[in-house]
Amino acid sequence: MDPVSQLVDLAETVEGVFRAVVALGIVLLVGGVSARWARRRLAYETWHFIHLYTYVAVVLAFTHQVAVGTTFTASPAATSYWYALWTVALGSVFVGRLVLPLWRNWRHQLRVEAVVPESDNVVSVYVTGRDLDRLPARAGQFFLWRFLTKDRWWQANPFSLSAAPDGRTLRLTAKAAGDGSAALRHIKPGTRVFAEGPYGAFTAMHRTRPEAVLVAGGVGVTPIRALLEELHGHAVVIYRVGSDRDAVLYDELRDLAHAKGSELHLVTGPPVPDKLAPGELARLVPDIADRDVFLCGPPPMMNAVLGSLRELNVPRTQIHFERFSLAG
Ligand SMILES: Cc1cc2nc3c(=O)[nH]c(=O)nc-3n(C[C@H](O)[C@H](O)[C@H](O)COP(=O)(O)OP(=O)(O)OC[C@H]3O[C@@H](n4cnc5c(N)ncnc54)[C@H](O)[C@@H]3O)c2cc1C
Repeated sequence: MDPVSQLVDLAETVEGVFRAVVALGIVLLVGGVSARWARRRLAYETWHFIHLYTYVAVVLAFTHQVAVGTTFTASPAATSYWYALWTVALGSVFVGRLVLPLWRNWRHQLRVEAVVPESDNVVSVYVTGRDLDRLPARAGQFFLWRFLTKDRWWQANPFSLSAAPDGRTLRLTAKAAGDGSAALRHIKPGTRVFAEGPYGAFTAMHRTRPEAVLVAGGVGVTPIRALLEELHGHAVVIYRVGSDRDAVLYDELRDLAHAKGSELHLVTGPPVPDKLAPGELARLVPDIADRDVFLCGPPPMMNAVLGSLRELNVPRTQIHFERFSLAG
């Protein structure tokens, strides 16, 4: 019998095998649409919707294992052990993805306090709420923000904090990349906000050296601006933009850098020639290999800077970066 007929036969005759085949199909589909080239071609919402089917795959695979897995059926102790493992795993997902966000949002009662234009296509949104000093957020992290307006409540977008949380206000700064981010400009103060997070490991917690270099490209300045506020020790900030006009939050960066004794370099001009090539970076920060590097910007710029850092022998453990795109 050929392998396909054998599989069909098994699926028809053995309890749970059909469910396992469907689960495998879903996992392959989710893996396929997450490949970089596929992810780039899909709308985020479509990709996310397909991704949610992973939960279905997990449940189908579990019921298959319970039905035919010898590890489950070998002894009562094995059965209890595996049930306990699965219960803890699924329970953690349930608590992390549903209970915790609902509880946090009920507790903090987030609302838009103000919307401040930073440029023609960038706005900052200030969000306040109750007991924000108890929210465990750090500079460099992001939330999935859902603004509860009539026409946009269904859409959640990730935006980094653009200022270190001060216990009273959270701030995000967003560039209009599509309909959702463009609509932020028109959000009314008082609008309720549902935020999921904080997420992300792009924080000062992962520092390995006393001194740092912060490299921002375009709107990638948001977590960099927040990090500069929180970092201790000497920092060199490099802000790469097309032209001065694009340098949102520049005044804040300059004032912060001045207050903290940091160096700030605004690097302007078109992407080519690469102004953050190894030679240029080494000129701006001669001791770069002895510093932690925090990097956030558009994917091509990030890839170029990561290449430069490799050439300058900056150890991988000292390089920390945040990508603003799931398709990087
Ligand atoms: C971790 C992270 C932090 C970010 N922080 C900032 C920030 O501080 N400031 C800023 O201006 N931008 C930030 N972005 C990018 C921002 O999330 C997108 O520009 C925004 O979601 C676009 O949504 P839209 O509805 O306006 O546009 P769309 O037309 O829906 O999308 C435009 C692009 O954004 C991507 N996108 C849309 N929704 C999401 C989503 N929920 N998750 C991931 N990608 C999405 C799409 O794939 C597409 O490539 C961040 C992205 C990530 C992943």
